[in-house]
Amino acid sequence: MPFLTHLECSKCGEKHAADRPQTVCTICGKPLLSRYDLEAVKAACNRDDLLRRPATLWRYREVLPVADDGNIVTLGEGFTPLLPANRLGEQLGLPRLMVKDESQIPTGTFKARGLAMAVSRAKEFGLRRLAIPSAGNAAGALAAYAARAGLETFIFMPQDAPDMNKKECDATGAHLYLVEGLISDCGKIVAGGKAAAGWFDVSTLKEPYRVEGKKTMGYELAEQLGWTLPDAIIYPTGGGTGLIGMWKAFAEMQELGWIGPDRPRMITVQSSGCAPIVRAFEAGAQEAEFWQGAQTVAAGLRVPAAIGDFLMLQVLRQSGGTAIAVSDTEILDEVRRLAQAEGLFACPEGAATVAAARHLREDGVLSADDRVVLFNTGAGMKYPEAVLGEYPVLDPRQTVDYGRF
Ligand SMILES: *Cc1c(COP(=O)(O)O)cnc(C)c1O
Ligand SMILES: [Zn+2]
Repeated sequence: MPFLTHLECSKCGEKHAADRPQTVCTICGKPLLSRYDLEAVKAACNRDDLLRRPATLWRYREVLPVADDGNIVTLGEGFTPLLPANRLGEQLGLPRLMVKDESQIPTGTFKARGLAMAVSRAKEFGLRRLAIPSAGNAAGALAAYAARAGLETFIFMPQDAPDMNKKECDATGAHLYLVEGLISDCGKIVAGGKAAAGWFDVSTLKEPYRVEGKKTMGYELAEQLGWTLPDAIIYPTGGGTGLIGMWKAFAEMQELGWIGPDRPRMITVQSSGCAPIVRAFEAGAQEAEFWQGAQTVAAGLRVPAAIGDFLMLQVLRQSGGTAIAVSDTEILDEVRRLAQAEGLFACPEGAATVAAARHLREDGVLSADDRVVLFNTGAGMKYPEAVLGEYPVLDPRQTVDYGRF
C-alpha cells in the first residue's frame, strides 16, 4: 500500500531511500522532498473516494509517507474550516475573502499537521528520542504527539518564547530548555547533540516529513473549493513549510488529475521585525540573508534564517506572488479587527495576513474580484499577552448605575 517511493533533494535532485531515517541531502545539505508513485495512486483512488473518509488530514492517506497505518499518531488534526469572511472582506474591499482557520486544530496551531507526520514516521523508524529547536508552537505540537506516541522529547526554545508554549511542553512531559538567544541558536544546540546525546533532529525541513503534513492544507483548500484553487493565498511565513508544502500539493494534485494547471499567487507576509524573505524577494535574490536582531510579537515568524529560503523564493516568483512586511502595531490592531468583524480570535501570525491584504488591496495588487484566502495559522488563545485591556470593575454591594451602559 505505501506509495512513497523515495526522497529527492530539492536542490540537486539526488535520490535518497525513504525506508530509513533521513535528514537533509547527503550531497548538498538541502531539504529532501517525498516522491510518490502518483500513477499508482491514480489507479488506486480518485478524488470522489475522499468524500467517505473522516474529516482529518489522513483522508489524503495515499499521498502521505507513513507506510503502516499502525504507526499513525493522531489527535484528529486537519480538515479545518474554510470560512467566508464577508464582513471583513467588505471592509477591505475584497468581497470574496476567505479564512482557512487553523486555530481549530490540536495544540492550537497548524504545527500539529507537520508534527503528526514527523512523529508518526519517527515511530515507524523506531526512533525514541526527538529534539527540536522551536520558536514555540512546533515545540508544543512535538511535545503533544510525542507524548501520545510514548516518545521522549528535548525542546530548545528562546527564553522569551510565548508562555503558553512553555506550559504545553511542561504539561506533556517534554524536557524543556530555554535558550538565551534566537531559534537559530536553538538549532545549533540541537544539531550539535545529534551524535553526543543520541537524539533525532526534527527541525523544519531538516526532517523530511513535516512538510508532508503541512502540504495537506493545499489538498484541503482544493477539495473545499470544489477542486479549484483561489486567486491568491496570503501566508504568514517563518520556516516556509506551509508555502513549500502547498505548492508541492498543487503539483501532485495536477498529476493525479484532481485539479488543472491554474495556480494561486502565493504571497508571503512577515513582520517588519524579522523579514528575511521579504528582503530577499525585493532584492531579486535566490537565497535570504540572516536577519539580525529578529524581534516580533508573531513568534512563529521569528525565523531569522530558513534552510528552505530558496524554495520559498521560487514559489513566490513562479506563482507571480509577492512578499510584504507589516509592523507589530498593525498586527496587534488586526487581531482585534478580525475578531470584531468575524468572531475569529486569531494568533498574531494570522492577523498579519489581514494587514497584508489591506495593503495589497490599497496598492491594487489584489482586486475586488479576487478570491483571496488568508491563513489563520493558530489560535489567539495561545497568545494571551497579545490582547491587553483594562476592564471596568463593578461592586455588587453598590447600586448599579444603568445610565452608564
Ligand atoms: C510556525 C508558524 C508560522 C510559520 O509557518 P511556516 O510554515 O514555518 O512558515 C505561522 N504561524 C504560526 C502560528 C506558526 O506557529
Ligand atoms: Zn542535494
